[in-house]
Amino acid sequence: MLIVGAGPAGLATSNLLSRYGVRHLLVEKHLGTAHTPRAHIVSQRTVEIFRHLGIEDRLLAVATPKEQMANNVWHTSLAGRELARIWAWGTGPDRSADYRAASPSPMANAPQTRLEPVLLDAAREHREADIRFGHELVSYDQDADGVSALVRERASGDTYRVRCAYLVGADGARSRVVEQAGLPIEGESGLGGAVNVWFEADLSQYLAYRPGVLYWHAAPGTPFLTGAGTLICHKPWTEFVMVIAYDPAIETVPHTEKFAVARIRQIVGDDTINPKIKGFATWTINHQVAARYQDRRVFAMGDAVHRHPPTNGAGLNTSIADAFNLAWKLALVIHGHAGAGLLDTFTQERQPVGRMVVDRAMRSATEMAQVHLALGFSPGQSEEEGRTALRGLDQPGPAGEARRAELRAALELMNYQFNAHGFELGYRYREGAVVSDGTSEPQPTRDPELYYHPTTWPGASLPHAWVDRDRRQVSTLDLVGGTHFSLLTGIGGEGWADAATAATHATGAAIDVHAIGTHDGLVDAYGDWAAQREIGSSGAILVRPDRHIAWRADEYSPGAAQALTKVLRELLSLPDSRPTATVASVNHLEPVTTAHLPGHQPVSPRQN
Ligand SMILES: Cc1cc2nc3c(=O)[nH]c(=O)nc-3n(C[C@H](O)[C@H](O)[C@H](O)COP(=O)(O)OP(=O)(O)OC[C@H]3O[C@@H](n4cnc5c(N)ncnc54)[C@H](O)[C@@H]3O)c2cc1C
Repeated sequence: MLIVGAGPAGLATSNLLSRYGVRHLLVEKHLGTAHTPRAHIVSQRTVEIFRHLGIEDRLLAVATPKEQMANNVWHTSLAGRELARIWAWGTGPDRSADYRAASPSPMANAPQTRLEPVLLDAAREHREADIRFGHELVSYDQDADGVSALVRERASGDTYRVRCAYLVGADGARSRVVEQAGLPIEGESGLGGAVNVWFEADLSQYLAYRPGVLYWHAAPGTPFLTGAGTLICHKPWTEFVMVIAYDPAIETVPHTEKFAVARIRQIVGDDTINPKIKGFATWTINHQVAARYQDRRVFAMGDAVHRHPPTNGAGLNTSIADAFNLAWKLALVIHGHAGAGLLDTFTQERQPVGRMVVDRAMRSATEMAQVHLALGFSPGQSEEEGRTALRGLDQPGPAGEARRAELRAALELMNYQFNAHGFELGYRYREGAVVSDGTSEPQPTRDPELYYHPTTWPGASLPHAWVDRDRRQVSTLDLVGGTHFSLLTGIGGEGWADAATAATHATGAAIDVHAIGTHDGLVDAYGDWAAQREIGSSGAILVRPDRHIAWRADEYSPGAAQALTKVLRELLSLPDSRPTATVASVNHLEPVTTAHLPGHQPVSPRQN
C-alpha cells in the first residue's frame, strides 16, 4: 500500500491499516505535519474513530474540552457591544442530552497543529508503517496487478519507484492523484479567499466568561458578512486564528505583522494588547466534489475529493471518516478475505456523503448573511448608516420587536451549522456493502439535519448504548474492533453463535458474537440497547468493522447460518462457494514500538 499525504486523512489511514495488519508506505512532501492550525472542530464520530484506534485519551488531552466550546458570539468588538450569542456544538441545555445519548465520545476542539501529531505519534508505533516526510509523489502508472509510483525525495532530488497493490491519494485540495486518475471534479472553485492569521494574546478578560470557539465580528461600516475578521479560539484564551475573508479579484490581505496586529486590536477593541503573530495561511473557498473516488487500484479521499468552506466544521471530520470507510475494506481485500468488488463500495458509500457535506457547508456559508442582515447591516453601507440600523434593534414598540424577532429567527438558522447533530452523525449508506433486511428506511421524526436519529436499519451507524461487561461500562461501539464483524444478539439468540461459526467457515470472515441483555454476558443495565435495537431479542444485528450496520434479522431461525453466510458472501464480494480457508483477520492489536525502524525520521516544523 502507498498513501500519499500526511494530513488528517492520510495519517488516519496509516493508523487504521497498521491496526489491521497492512504494511504500507506513507509519503508526505513537506517536512512535518500541519504548520498552522487549520480545521479544528472534531465531531463525535471522529473522536469515536480515535477511540477505535485506542487513542481517544491522547486526542482529548490536546483538545479544548466541549464545555469551553459552549458559546458562539457576534460582537462589534470583544471589548465592545455583544450583539448576539447562541449555545454551540450541543452544549446548550436543550441539546446536551442529545449529544450525550448519541455517543460514548464528546466533541472536541483540536487544531490540526495538535491533532496531527497525535495521529503521527500513534502511526509510528506500528511496524507496518514506513512514514517518509520530504518525499513527494511525482506520478504513477497502474496495471492489472498493481501500481508503480515515482517518488522524489525533495532534499536530494533523488527519485525512486514504489510498487504497491493499491494507492490512496490523501493529498489535499490540489491533489495530483485526483488529477492523474482523471476523477471528475464537479462544482465551482475560487468562490472567495481567506487568510488565517495565527497569533497568541491573552484575551481571558473578554472570553473566559463566555467560553466558545467562534467570535464573529459585526461592526457598523466594516465589510459586510465577516466584519474585520472572525476569531477562532485554538487554546483558551491565549491562542487564536483570525480569519479574514476577502475577494481575491479586487483585494489583497497583507501578510505583515503590522497589518495583523492592527486588525487584531480592531476586532478585540483594545489598543493595549500586543499579540504575537505566529503565522499566515491563505486558502480558497470552493464548492466541489469528485463524481468518483476510485480509478481501479487508485483511491482518493479527504480534501482531494471534497472541497468546501469551513462552515459546519466538516473538512477534517469527513476526511477521517473516508479513511475509516476504506481502510477495513482494503485490509480484507489485501489479506484475501474479500473480493475486489468490496472496494467499489467506497465511492458508493462516501461520495453521497461528500456531496451532502459540500452542499451543506456552502448553504451554511450563505446563511451566515442572515444574522448580519437582521442586525441591520448591508453591503456597501457607511458606518453611520450601520449605526442607525443597529439602533433599530433597541427601539421599544412593534418596530423594535419585529427587528428583535428577525434576529432571533436568523440565529435559529445558525443551528444548522452549530448544532447540526443529524448532519454530523446521521449519514447512512443507502447503497454499498450493506444487505437490506427488507424493511424501508425509517423516516425522521424531527429535523434530520438538526437531530440525530439512531437506527439499526442496515447502512446506519451502530447506535450507542452503555452496557456492563465484567463490572465495567462499555459502549456498544466498543464491541466492534479490528477487521472483525460483530453480531449483536440477545436473550433467545444463543443459536447465532453456531450460525456465526458456520458462516466463518464458509467465508473466512471473522465474527465476534455478543449477547446483550443476558445476565452472564453483557448487561443492558439501563435497557437502552433494548430500546434502540429495533429487532426482537432473539434476532441479530451484523455490524461492519467501521461500526455501520451491514444487515439484521428480526429473530433467530433455523436457517440463520445459511442466511448469514449468504449475506457475508454478498457483502464481501465473494463467489457463491469458496474453500474454507484460514480465518485470518486482525483484532485488538497491541501497539508495537518501532522508533528505530528505518524510514522513521524526525519531524521538523513544516516549511511550505
Ligand atoms: C491553509 C489552510 C487553511 C485551512 N483552514 C481551515 C479552517 O480554518 N477550518 C477548516 O475547517 N478547514 C480548514 N482547512 C481545511 C482542512 O485543513 C482540511 O479539510 C483537512 O486538512 C483535510 O484533510 P486531508 O488529509 O484530506 O488534506 P490535507 O490536510 O490538505 O493534507 C494533504 C497532505 O498531502 C500532502 N501532499 C500533497 N501533494 C502531495 C504529493 N504529491 N506527495 C506527497 N504529499 C503530498 C500535503 O502536503 C498535505 O500534507 C484549511 C486548509 C488549508 C490548506
